[in-house]
Amino acid sequence: MISIAIDGPSGAGKSTLARRLAAELGYVYVDTGAMYRAIGLYALRQGADPADPDAVAALLPAIRLQLRCQAGAQRLSLNGEDVTEAVRAEQVGMAASAVSAHPAVRAFLLETQRGMARSQDVLMDGRDIGTVVLPNATLKVFLTAAPEARAARRLAELRAKGEPADPDTVLADILRRDEQDTHRAVAPLRQAPDAVLLDTTALDFEQSFAALKTLVQRAAAGQ
Ligand code: C5P
Repeated sequence: MISIAIDGPSGAGKSTLARRLAAELGYVYVDTGAMYRAIGLYALRQGADPADPDAVAALLPAIRLQLRCQAGAQRLSLNGEDVTEAVRAEQVGMAASAVSAHPAVRAFLLETQRGMARSQDVLMDGRDIGTVVLPNATLKVFLTAAPEARAARRLAELRAKGEPADPDTVLADILRRDEQDTHRAVAPLRQAPDAVLLDTTALDFEQSFAALKTLVQRAAAGQ
């Protein structure tokens, strides 16, 4: 089986790049961030504080997540409800970042994620795929970009969707998420020693895509 681990901070373009590359190369794309987002969404809906480890752990037994592929796109359901779009909200991203710091949440998702890579070729993106989830991945890529570049891309994305967005708030959210993701005790965001660094600050989408595709094709050919 081929497994490609793509890690990096939020807004680096991981999921857009990984989704397109997986479709092109015939791999299954696994968006692990969406799984953390679903748990964050559930906590918010239940009125639980996403930062409270006990409150969130108590919710886990009631959570059923299902990832499936529909017309080439990944759909995520939470207890039978399709939450693919709902989990993209900004507020849900913050809640995801908070719940993802809890060991019980990470343990809850770890086996599901590993299981997916056992039975099929996957391109999996997240924060700890190369360091924790798939330590023996065929290829590990650490995809990053300067916070200002990531904020500018996020802003353009929000505006394209017609959502009002303030540049300072978007940058502040990115910096806060970086801080939470890199400083947590369990599975913090960091580059695995054997990961290839791909910095897309000065690259546009097509250039980033071409660079990533070359890395993946080389690694798959060497398998
Ligand atoms: O990638 P995305 O922004 O959708 O992830 C949402 C949040 O989930 C991140 O801020 C991060 O805290 C968390 N996450 C994680 N480990 C992963 C994927 C995401 O901790 N493998």
